[in-house]
Amino acid sequence: MSIPLVDLQAQYISIKTEIDQAIQSVLNHGGYILGPEVSAFESAFASYCQSKYCIGVANGTDAIHLILKAFEIGPGDEVILPAYTFIATALGVTQAGATPVLVDVRHDDALIDLHQIEKAITPRTKAIMPVHLYGRCCDMKPICELALKYNLKVIEDAAQAHGSSYQNRRAGSLGHAAAFSFYPGKNLGAYGDGGAITTNDPELADRLKLLRNWGSRVKYHHEEPGLNSRLDTIQASILNVKLQYLDQWNSLRRSRASLYDQLLPNFRQPVNQPDREPVYHIYAVRVQNRDQILSRLQGQGIGAGVHYPFPIHQLKAYQDLYTKPFPESDAWAAEELSLPIYAELEDEQVRHVASRLISELESIEV
Ligand SMILES: *Cc1c(COP(=O)(O)O)cnc(C)c1O
Repeated sequence: MSIPLVDLQAQYISIKTEIDQAIQSVLNHGGYILGPEVSAFESAFASYCQSKYCIGVANGTDAIHLILKAFEIGPGDEVILPAYTFIATALGVTQAGATPVLVDVRHDDALIDLHQIEKAITPRTKAIMPVHLYGRCCDMKPICELALKYNLKVIEDAAQAHGSSYQNRRAGSLGHAAAFSFYPGKNLGAYGDGGAITTNDPELADRLKLLRNWGSRVKYHHEEPGLNSRLDTIQASILNVKLQYLDQWNSLRRSRASLYDQLLPNFRQPVNQPDREPVYHIYAVRVQNRDQILSRLQGQGIGAGVHYPFPIHQLKAYQDLYTKPFPESDAWAAEELSLPIYAELEDEQVRHVASRLISELESIEV
């Protein structure tokens, strides 16, 4: 039985007619750049995220870059983020010219550690960027209180958290602005690159519309040097179809995850809090001898993976920036194993993955 980490084709087949029609209608009208599907998606996604505004951009990395640029956070400024995340979180910050300041994550759930944040604040700090890793929201209330005390912006990296909630509010509405990615494998994925920013701040939203479009509102009137970073119309047409299924897909992911939880009671999964509803972008477990187990599972056709083998401070791209260790991030990077999870995954496949994992672990321990 061959089971991929994520199966994009199975999802496409289930909605093929609607997707094909949506793409065809863009080809028919030809409004490829900022066509009507983009604004339709922006209003639908803003309301989905319980946020006032949504601005479609080219990808999630640009979303982070653009938010910082719109807040005028750049050279000389510091942005606090977790050491254990995908590189894009840090890249968005360096692209804006600011300095990513890393803090360690929590042992229990791999999310940014509140107590480390306060210690990392300096007079140069301008923003805190919590990452809702694996589709699980960070503890946003104390983070926002801390930000208020030091007059900092809170920017959610919600690239893995479409539809996830914290105290009955959705990711994307929990800070001053949020960055989303629609990379194909995300819970809401396009068929190419895509991204969005959500915010309740009308001035920020207005400035972002300018910044993503060469700094212009009216053709050939360029008010400031912006980026070329718009959400593509064809991708928006696809996202309009898929957004209608997102809650259903997320709830199927949750039921697959709870079956894994039942079948793997002796494993260490990230802890869930009662005031949060995760969306399982990744189903993670921690295991000793991770690399050996990973290659044995892969050898049997099970698409297990690792998110992420190197925390930011261990990447060559950032090696000169950090000297201090981040022990919890290093431990997650050494032991995390991602199991296949997607809406179309069947119970029988979940059982197969869980039983293979248990027997590989036993054979290594013997
Ligand atoms: C996917 C992702 C991003 C943005 O990715 P893009 O590929 O640029 O859309 C940012 N942060 C995290 C945590 C991600 O997983």
